[in-house]
Amino acid sequence: MDKSNKNHSIKCTVDSCKNHCDSGAYCALSQIQVGTHEKNPAKDQCTDCQSFEATW
Ligand code: SF4
Repeated sequence: MDKSNKNHSIKCTVDSCKNHCDSGAYCALSQIQVGTHEKNPAKDQCTDCQSFEATW
């Protein structure tokens, strides 16, 4: 994965993620998986980027 890649279709501000673009608020991946940890998601807080990988 090339961290200089800015996927303009995936805006993201989670720069503690290994897949975050190194310049700008974008994901560097070509696609991501979004899911939920809730049975009946009702708010944005109920959803998760499941492609997240911690930088540490
Ligand atoms: S994988 Fe998810 S959390 Fe990580 S930079 Fe991409 S969109 Fe953001």
